Amino acid sequence: KPYTPNPNRYQNMQYQRCGNSGILLPKISLGLWHNFGFYDSFENARNILKTAFDLGITHFDLANNYGPPYGSAEENFGRILKKDFAKHRDELLIATKAGYDMWPGPYGNMGSKKYLVASLDQSLQRMGLDYVDIYYHHRPDPETPLEETMHALSLLVQQGKALYIGLSRYSAEEMQQAQAILKKLGTPCLIHQSKYSMLERSMETEVFPVLEQEQIGAIVFSPLAQGLLTDKYLDGIPKDSRAAKENTYLASDTVSQQIEKVKALNQIARKRGQSMAQMAIAWIYQQAAVTTVLVGASSPQQLLANVGALEQTEFTSEEIQRIQAILNE
Ligand code: NDP
Repeated sequence: KPYTPNPNRYQNMQYQRCGNSGILLPKISLGLWHNFGFYDSFENARNILKTAFDLGITHFDLANNYGPPYGSAEENFGRILKKDFAKHRDELLIATKAGYDMWPGPYGNMGSKKYLVASLDQSLQRMGLDYVDIYYHHRPDPETPLEETMHALSLLVQQGKALYIGLSRYSAEEMQQAQAILKKLGTPCLIHQSKYSMLERSMETEVFPVLEQEQIGAIVFSPLAQGLLTDKYLDGIPKDSRAAKENTYLASDTVSQQIEKVKALNQIARKRGQSMAQMAIAWIYQQAAVTTVLVGASSPQQLLANVGALEQTEFTSEEIQRIQAILNE
Protein backbone atom coordinates (compact mmCIF):
# COMPACT_ATOMS: atom_id res chain seq x y z
CA LYS A 1 0.00 0.00 0.00
CA PRO A 2 1.52 3.35 -0.97
CA TYR A 3 2.55 5.66 1.84
CA THR A 4 0.52 8.84 2.23
CA PRO A 5 2.22 11.25 4.61
CA ASN A 6 0.30 12.96 7.38
CA PRO A 7 -1.14 16.13 5.76
CA ASN A 8 -0.66 18.04 9.06
CA ARG A 9 3.01 17.15 9.37
CA TYR A 10 4.25 20.75 9.24
CA GLN A 11 1.82 22.09 11.82
CA ASN A 12 3.20 20.56 14.99
CA MET A 13 6.93 20.51 14.42
CA GLN A 14 8.91 23.64 15.26
CA TYR A 15 11.63 24.86 12.90
CA GLN A 16 14.67 26.99 13.60
CA ARG A 17 17.03 28.84 11.28
CA CYS A 18 20.41 27.19 10.85
CA GLY A 19 23.01 29.87 11.51
CA ASN A 20 23.06 32.64 8.93
CA SER A 21 21.48 30.65 6.11
CA GLY A 22 18.26 30.09 4.22
CA ILE A 23 17.75 26.70 5.86
CA LEU A 24 15.24 25.95 8.59
CA LEU A 25 15.73 22.73 10.52
CA PRO A 26 13.19 20.85 12.61
CA LYS A 27 14.07 21.09 16.32
CA ILE A 28 14.43 17.30 16.27
CA SER A 29 16.31 15.51 13.48
CA LEU A 30 16.79 11.79 12.92
CA GLY A 31 20.11 9.96 12.63
CA LEU A 32 20.63 6.61 10.88
CA TRP A 33 23.80 5.48 12.64
CA HIS A 34 22.08 2.45 14.20
CA ASN A 35 18.99 0.45 13.18
CA PHE A 36 19.20 1.06 9.42
CA GLY A 37 21.83 -1.46 8.27
CA PHE A 38 21.44 -4.76 6.45
CA TYR A 39 21.36 -6.66 9.77
CA ASP A 40 18.41 -4.60 11.00
CA SER A 41 14.75 -5.00 10.10
CA PHE A 42 14.05 -3.18 6.85
CA GLU A 43 10.35 -2.77 7.67
CA ASN A 44 11.17 -1.27 11.06
CA ALA A 45 13.64 1.14 9.45
CA ARG A 46 10.99 2.11 6.93
CA ASN A 47 8.40 2.68 9.65
CA ILE A 48 10.78 4.85 11.66
CA LEU A 49 11.37 7.08 8.62
CA LYS A 50 7.65 7.35 7.83
CA THR A 51 6.89 8.20 11.45
CA ALA A 52 9.62 10.83 11.39
CA PHE A 53 8.29 12.47 8.24
CA ASP A 54 4.72 12.35 9.58
CA LEU A 55 5.98 14.25 12.64
CA GLY A 56 7.47 17.00 10.48
CA ILE A 57 11.04 15.74 10.77
CA THR A 58 12.56 16.77 7.46
CA HIS A 59 16.22 16.26 8.27
CA PHE A 60 17.93 12.85 8.06
CA ASP A 61 21.56 12.36 9.00
CA LEU A 62 23.68 9.61 7.47
CA ALA A 63 27.35 8.78 6.86
CA ASN A 64 29.19 6.61 4.35
CA ASN A 65 30.00 3.96 6.94
CA TYR A 66 26.68 3.69 8.82
CA GLY A 67 25.35 0.15 8.88
CA PRO A 68 26.72 -2.37 9.57
CA PRO A 69 28.01 -3.31 7.07
CA TYR A 70 29.48 0.01 5.91
CA GLY A 71 27.29 1.69 3.31
CA SER A 72 24.20 -0.31 4.13
CA ALA A 73 22.33 2.48 5.93
CA GLU A 74 22.69 4.64 2.82
CA GLU A 75 21.62 1.78 0.60
CA ASN A 76 18.55 1.01 2.70
CA PHE A 77 17.74 4.71 2.93
CA GLY A 78 17.95 4.91 -0.89
CA ARG A 79 15.50 2.01 -1.22
CA ILE A 80 13.07 3.60 1.21
CA LEU A 81 13.37 6.96 -0.56
CA LYS A 82 12.44 5.29 -3.81
CA LYS A 83 9.54 3.32 -2.33
CA ASP A 84 8.00 5.93 -0.06
CA PHE A 85 9.49 9.37 -0.56
CA ALA A 86 9.92 9.64 -4.33
CA LYS A 87 7.50 12.57 -4.49
CA HIS A 88 8.95 14.23 -1.40
CA ARG A 89 12.68 14.55 -2.15
CA ASP A 90 12.47 18.33 -2.13
CA GLU A 91 10.87 18.30 1.33
CA LEU A 92 13.90 16.50 2.74
CA LEU A 93 17.27 17.71 3.90
CA ILE A 94 19.61 14.74 3.55
CA ALA A 95 23.10 14.74 5.03
CA THR A 96 25.99 12.35 4.67
CA LYS A 97 29.63 12.34 5.75
CA ALA A 98 33.10 10.99 5.10
CA GLY A 99 36.06 11.04 7.43
CA TYR A 100 36.22 7.67 9.16
CA ASP A 101 37.31 4.27 7.93
CA MET A 102 35.36 3.32 4.80
CA TRP A 103 37.35 1.24 2.29
CA PRO A 104 40.75 -0.46 2.39
CA GLY A 105 43.99 1.26 1.47
CA PRO A 106 45.27 4.80 1.95
CA TYR A 107 42.37 6.61 0.18
CA GLY A 108 39.39 5.34 2.16
CA ASN A 109 39.77 7.30 5.41
CA MET A 110 40.61 10.70 6.98
CA GLY A 111 40.52 14.00 5.04
CA SER A 112 42.17 13.95 1.61
CA LYS A 113 40.48 15.43 -1.44
CA LYS A 114 40.85 12.00 -3.04
CA TYR A 115 38.79 10.35 -0.28
CA LEU A 116 36.12 13.04 0.09
CA VAL A 117 35.37 13.28 -3.63
CA ALA A 118 35.25 9.52 -4.23
CA SER A 119 33.22 8.86 -1.10
CA LEU A 120 30.49 11.34 -2.02
CA ASP A 121 30.14 9.75 -5.46
CA GLN A 122 29.70 6.37 -3.78
CA SER A 123 27.17 7.77 -1.28
CA LEU A 124 25.10 9.35 -4.04
CA GLN A 125 25.06 6.07 -5.90
CA ARG A 126 24.00 4.09 -2.83
CA MET A 127 21.19 6.52 -2.04
CA GLY A 128 20.14 7.01 -5.65
CA LEU A 129 20.49 10.80 -5.36
CA ASP A 130 21.85 13.49 -7.68
CA TYR A 131 23.04 15.54 -4.72
CA VAL A 132 23.01 15.57 -0.93
CA ASP A 133 21.87 18.63 0.95
CA ILE A 134 24.72 18.61 3.46
CA TYR A 135 28.11 16.97 3.06
CA TYR A 136 30.22 16.72 6.18
CA HIS A 137 33.81 16.10 6.93
CA HIS A 138 33.11 13.57 9.70
CA ARG A 139 36.13 14.39 11.89
CA PRO A 140 39.18 16.62 11.70
CA ASP A 141 42.29 15.08 10.14
CA PRO A 142 45.44 16.41 11.82
CA GLU A 143 47.68 15.23 9.00
CA THR A 144 45.95 16.62 5.92
CA PRO A 145 46.25 20.38 5.36
CA LEU A 146 42.95 21.98 6.31
CA GLU A 147 43.09 23.87 2.98
CA GLU A 148 42.96 20.59 1.05
CA THR A 149 39.95 19.27 2.94
CA MET A 150 38.08 22.58 2.66
CA HIS A 151 38.90 22.85 -1.05
CA ALA A 152 37.46 19.38 -1.57
CA LEU A 153 34.20 20.26 0.22
CA SER A 154 33.93 23.56 -1.64
CA LEU A 155 34.58 21.87 -4.99
CA LEU A 156 31.74 19.40 -4.37
CA VAL A 157 29.37 22.27 -3.64
CA GLN A 158 30.46 24.07 -6.80
CA GLN A 159 29.87 20.85 -8.74
CA GLY A 160 26.35 20.64 -7.32
CA LYS A 161 26.94 17.30 -5.62
CA ALA A 162 26.26 18.88 -2.23
CA LEU A 163 24.35 22.04 -1.43
CA TYR A 164 25.94 22.87 1.92
CA ILE A 165 29.03 22.01 3.92
CA GLY A 166 29.07 20.60 7.44
CA LEU A 167 31.93 19.90 9.83
CA SER A 168 31.73 17.29 12.54
CA ARG A 169 33.76 17.02 15.73
CA TYR A 170 35.89 20.06 14.86
CA SER A 171 37.22 22.01 17.87
CA ALA A 172 36.53 25.73 18.33
CA GLU A 173 39.91 26.64 16.87
CA GLU A 174 39.57 24.25 13.94
CA MET A 175 36.15 25.74 13.22
CA GLN A 176 37.51 29.25 13.09
CA GLN A 177 40.32 28.25 10.74
CA ALA A 178 38.06 26.14 8.52
CA GLN A 179 35.41 28.83 8.31
CA ALA A 180 37.97 31.46 7.30
CA ILE A 181 39.07 29.23 4.38
CA LEU A 182 35.52 28.30 3.39
CA LYS A 183 34.39 31.93 3.39
CA LYS A 184 37.23 32.85 1.05
CA LEU A 185 36.10 30.06 -1.24
CA GLY A 186 32.55 31.45 -1.18
CA THR A 187 31.11 28.32 0.42
CA PRO A 188 30.77 28.96 4.17
CA CYS A 189 30.10 26.15 6.62
CA LEU A 190 26.36 25.74 7.29
CA ILE A 191 26.47 23.55 10.35
CA HIS A 192 28.66 21.98 12.98
CA GLN A 193 27.90 18.55 14.41
CA SER A 194 29.08 17.40 17.81
CA LYS A 195 28.14 15.37 20.86
CA TYR A 196 26.12 17.21 23.47
CA SER A 197 23.86 16.03 26.29
CA MET A 198 23.33 16.35 30.03
CA LEU A 199 26.23 13.93 30.40
CA GLU A 200 28.56 15.50 27.81
CA ARG A 201 28.82 19.26 28.15
CA SER A 202 32.26 20.16 26.86
CA MET A 203 30.80 22.08 23.88
CA GLU A 204 29.44 24.78 26.18
CA THR A 205 32.74 26.46 26.92
CA GLU A 206 34.42 26.94 23.53
CA VAL A 207 32.61 25.49 20.53
CA PHE A 208 29.11 26.92 21.10
CA PRO A 209 30.39 30.51 21.57
CA VAL A 210 32.41 30.27 18.34
CA LEU A 211 29.41 28.91 16.43
CA GLU A 212 27.26 31.78 17.65
CA GLN A 213 29.93 34.31 16.80
CA GLU A 214 30.43 32.83 13.31
CA GLN A 215 26.68 32.31 12.82
CA ILE A 216 27.09 28.63 12.07
CA GLY A 217 24.24 26.29 13.05
CA ALA A 218 24.70 23.45 15.56
CA ILE A 219 23.28 19.94 15.38
CA VAL A 220 24.02 17.88 18.47
CA PHE A 221 24.28 14.09 18.48
CA SER A 222 23.66 11.44 21.14
CA PRO A 223 21.40 13.81 23.12
CA LEU A 224 20.15 10.79 25.08
CA ALA A 225 23.71 9.52 25.63
CA GLN A 226 22.78 6.64 23.30
CA GLY A 227 19.76 5.68 25.40
CA LEU A 228 21.25 6.10 28.85
CA LEU A 229 19.19 9.28 29.39
CA THR A 230 15.89 7.41 29.05
CA ASP A 231 14.00 5.17 31.43
CA LYS A 232 15.40 2.12 29.60
CA TYR A 233 18.20 1.24 32.03
CA LEU A 234 16.59 2.18 35.35
CA ASP A 235 16.08 -1.47 36.32
CA GLY A 236 19.10 -3.02 34.60
CA ILE A 237 20.20 -3.62 31.02
CA PRO A 238 17.41 -5.02 28.83
CA LYS A 239 18.36 -7.57 26.14
CA ASP A 240 17.09 -5.48 23.25
CA SER A 241 19.09 -2.37 24.21
CA ARG A 242 22.16 -0.83 22.60
CA ALA A 243 24.18 -1.47 25.76
CA ALA A 244 23.40 -5.21 25.56
CA LYS A 245 24.44 -5.51 21.93
CA GLU A 246 27.93 -6.36 20.73
CA ASN A 247 30.03 -3.92 18.73
CA THR A 248 28.27 -0.80 19.92
CA TYR A 249 29.78 2.22 21.64
CA LEU A 250 27.58 2.13 24.73
CA ALA A 251 29.41 0.00 27.30
CA SER A 252 27.47 -1.66 30.10
CA ASP A 253 30.10 -0.20 32.49
CA THR A 254 29.12 3.30 31.43
CA VAL A 255 25.51 2.46 32.18
CA SER A 256 26.30 1.22 35.69
CA GLN A 257 28.58 4.21 36.42
CA GLN A 258 25.96 6.79 35.45
CA ILE A 259 22.67 5.16 36.38
CA GLU A 260 22.36 6.75 39.84
CA LYS A 261 22.50 10.18 38.23
CA VAL A 262 19.89 9.15 35.69
CA LYS A 263 17.61 7.90 38.49
CA ALA A 264 17.85 11.26 40.24
CA LEU A 265 17.23 13.14 36.98
CA ASN A 266 14.28 10.90 36.23
CA GLN A 267 12.61 12.06 39.47
CA ILE A 268 12.76 15.65 38.24
CA ALA A 269 11.45 14.66 34.82
CA ARG A 270 8.47 12.88 36.39
CA LYS A 271 7.62 15.95 38.47
CA ARG A 272 7.66 18.01 35.29
CA GLY A 273 5.25 15.53 33.72
CA GLN A 274 7.87 14.38 31.20
CA SER A 275 9.77 11.21 30.51
CA MET A 276 13.51 11.16 31.17
CA ALA A 277 14.19 11.23 27.42
CA GLN A 278 11.86 14.19 26.89
CA MET A 279 13.52 16.19 29.64
CA ALA A 280 17.00 15.36 28.32
CA ILE A 281 16.01 16.74 24.90
CA ALA A 282 14.17 19.79 26.27
CA TRP A 283 17.14 20.69 28.48
CA ILE A 284 19.39 21.02 25.39
CA TYR A 285 17.35 23.93 23.96
CA GLN A 286 18.63 26.17 26.69
CA GLN A 287 21.77 26.46 24.59
CA ALA A 288 20.98 29.26 22.17
CA ALA A 289 23.63 27.93 19.77
CA VAL A 290 21.74 24.67 19.20
CA THR A 291 19.63 24.54 16.04
CA THR A 292 18.49 20.93 16.20
CA VAL A 293 18.79 17.87 18.40
CA LEU A 294 19.86 14.76 16.46
CA VAL A 295 18.22 11.70 17.97
CA GLY A 296 18.38 8.02 17.14
CA ALA A 297 15.49 5.57 17.49
CA SER A 298 15.15 1.80 17.37
CA SER A 299 11.34 2.01 16.99
CA PRO A 300 8.71 4.46 15.71
CA GLN A 301 7.29 4.59 19.27
CA GLN A 302 10.55 5.95 20.72
CA LEU A 303 10.62 8.74 18.18
CA LEU A 304 6.98 9.58 18.70
CA ALA A 305 7.47 9.72 22.48
CA ASN A 306 10.66 11.77 22.26
CA VAL A 307 9.17 14.44 19.98
CA GLY A 308 6.77 15.07 22.89
CA ALA A 309 9.72 16.90 24.47
CA LEU A 310 8.74 19.96 22.43
CA GLU A 311 5.54 20.35 24.45
CA GLN A 312 7.47 21.39 27.56
CA THR A 313 10.82 23.07 27.02
CA GLU A 314 10.69 25.69 29.79
CA PHE A 315 12.54 25.05 33.06
CA THR A 316 12.17 26.88 36.35
CA SER A 317 15.40 28.20 37.85
CA GLU A 318 14.92 25.75 40.70
CA GLU A 319 14.74 22.81 38.29
CA ILE A 320 17.87 24.03 36.53
CA GLN A 321 19.72 24.27 39.83
CA ARG A 322 18.66 20.81 40.94
CA ILE A 323 19.68 19.32 37.58
CA GLN A 324 23.00 21.15 37.74
CA ALA A 325 23.65 19.78 41.23
CA ILE A 326 22.98 16.21 40.07
CA LEU A 327 25.20 16.61 37.00
CA ASN A 328 28.04 18.01 39.13
CA GLU A 329 27.98 15.10 41.62
P1 NDP B 1 20.57 9.10 21.06
O1 NDP B 1 21.38 9.58 22.22
O2 NDP B 1 19.29 9.78 20.74
O3 NDP B 1 20.33 7.53 21.28
C1 NDP B 1 19.35 6.86 20.54
C2 NDP B 1 19.07 5.49 21.16
O4 NDP B 1 18.54 5.62 22.47
C3 NDP B 1 18.01 4.74 20.38
O5 NDP B 1 18.54 4.11 19.23
C4 NDP B 1 17.48 3.79 21.41
O6 NDP B 1 18.41 2.71 21.56
C5 NDP B 1 17.51 4.65 22.67
N1 NDP B 1 16.24 5.38 22.88
C6 NDP B 1 15.79 6.48 22.21
N2 NDP B 1 14.61 6.90 22.68
C7 NDP B 1 14.28 6.06 23.67
C8 NDP B 1 13.16 5.98 24.56
N3 NDP B 1 12.16 6.86 24.50
N4 NDP B 1 13.15 4.99 25.48
C9 NDP B 1 14.16 4.11 25.55
N5 NDP B 1 15.25 4.12 24.74
C10 NDP B 1 15.31 5.09 23.81
O7 NDP B 1 21.42 9.26 19.74
P2 NDP B 1 22.47 8.35 18.92
O8 NDP B 1 23.63 8.00 19.76
O9 NDP B 1 21.71 7.26 18.26
O10 NDP B 1 22.95 9.39 17.83
C11 NDP B 1 21.98 10.03 16.99
C12 NDP B 1 22.58 10.33 15.64
O11 NDP B 1 23.70 11.22 15.77
C13 NDP B 1 23.17 9.13 14.90
O12 NDP B 1 22.18 8.35 14.26
C14 NDP B 1 24.08 9.82 13.91
O13 NDP B 1 23.30 10.32 12.82
C15 NDP B 1 24.62 11.00 14.73
N6 NDP B 1 25.96 10.72 15.28
C16 NDP B 1 27.02 11.39 14.75
C17 NDP B 1 28.30 11.17 15.18
C18 NDP B 1 29.43 11.95 14.57
O14 NDP B 1 30.58 11.58 14.75
N7 NDP B 1 29.17 13.01 13.86
C19 NDP B 1 28.59 10.16 16.23
C20 NDP B 1 27.40 9.55 16.78
C21 NDP B 1 26.14 9.83 16.31
P3 NDP B 1 18.00 1.19 21.86
O15 NDP B 1 16.49 1.11 21.90
O16 NDP B 1 18.58 0.40 20.73
O17 NDP B 1 18.65 0.87 23.16
